[in-house]
Amino acid sequence: MRKGGLLAGIDECASLGEELYGLAAALFPICRSITGKGVRTTLDAIAKHAPLEISEVPSGTQVLDWTVPDEWNVREAYVADSTGRRIVDMADSNLHVVSYSVPVRARMPLGELSPHLHSLPEQPDLIPYRTSYYRRDWGFCISDTLRQSLREDTYEVVVDATLAPGTLTYGEHTKRGTDPSKGEVLLSAHVCHPSLANDNCSGLAVLAMLGRYLATRPTRHAYRLLFAPGTIGAITWLARNRENFGRITHGLVISNVGDGGGPTYKRSRRGDAPIDRAAAHVIGRSKLPAARVVDFSPYGYDERQFCSPGFDMPVGSLQRSQWGTFSQYHTSADDLDFIRPEHLAQSFRLIVSILDVLERDARYVNLAPYGEPQLGRRGLYGGSGDCPDFRMALLWVLNQSDGGHSLLDIAERAGLPFALVADAADALVDADLLRRCGD
Ligand code: ZN
Repeated sequence: MRKGGLLAGIDECASLGEELYGLAAALFPICRSITGKGVRTTLDAIAKHAPLEISEVPSGTQVLDWTVPDEWNVREAYVADSTGRRIVDMADSNLHVVSYSVPVRARMPLGELSPHLHSLPEQPDLIPYRTSYYRRDWGFCISDTLRQSLREDTYEVVVDATLAPGTLTYGEHTKRGTDPSKGEVLLSAHVCHPSLANDNCSGLAVLAMLGRYLATRPTRHAYRLLFAPGTIGAITWLARNRENFGRITHGLVISNVGDGGGPTYKRSRRGDAPIDRAAAHVIGRSKLPAARVVDFSPYGYDERQFCSPGFDMPVGSLQRSQWGTFSQYHTSADDLDFIRPEHLAQSFRLIVSILDVLERDARYVNLAPYGEPQLGRRGLYGGSGDCPDFRMALLWVLNQSDGGHSLLDIAERAGLPFALVADAADALVDADLLRRCGD
């Protein structure tokens, strides 16, 4: 079958799933937070696939209603019992230390330590993920099984960290478009979570490889891939792009794209933006049993910021299982066994399919509208490699192309995949039977 547009050649990327998984696995062990060396190391790894322009924004900078916080770096964090045995050690999992813990070096009884311990009684073997970004505190995350085993003792508590003025780091990969009137597509993924595979090493890997993929293909839109810490990173980026955010004509926030659930598309605040229609079409035709489109809500990932009323950008969000709905969410079970190469590759293809709609959707005019043009004479009907759906797509495009219906309108009315309808339009243009409006 024909496959033009952004999907051209995607089936030849046989090792795509393994490459995506390999990058997610390389990012997994890095101790990330909203600032610090972990973010920079992560961006360095991503930049090997999609070159990045790095921004460093000083602590204390006012960004919209927020302030860029002090930079946090942690070297070591552990709790040892009175025999010197480390019962919790960040070296085993960087989830053990509450992100943004202030430095501590102290000895204390269990009663004093206990309020600083976080565990999940309902999931006693898992380590939770906790942060204390905007409240000066320290803490350790442990399994509830370990917590229940702790005895009265004098514990040595060490958080060897620095929380001091520095910078907040984010990275952007950009690609030029061929048609300036189409504006820019913003794709973003949060870069602040430590060792959590689905949330969001999966999103970072998919976005990095998308950058590499798009770089080799001509696109009408420009693309901006934003790798920024959640909330404060998006707010910082918006504060620094306040004058020209209007150039963004479509956007997608990408997270949790490595598990086998969903896919879940969450509409933009506008609800009827072209990205909303494009994603609903692709997700709806994905034939995946749990596929669903949900309405906007002012919670979730950075679509919250992009879709705040002052900006109201046409930005949706794509996930497989929706955050918070899977038992592994924000725990040590969101590990490299939870994500799979085939799910990552499938998510990648879904996103490329959505972008393909944005790239190729247009209105056309039938240049031979009096009766059906004779397609067989032009090699468009009955040839080898012909398929019934493609023939139907040709007829639908010819019939509906009066300048008033877009290819997406036609695909939806015909019940055919957009890519097939767009391929039919390309073939009809090549046969001089169709002209794109505006060309
Ligand atoms: Zn999260």
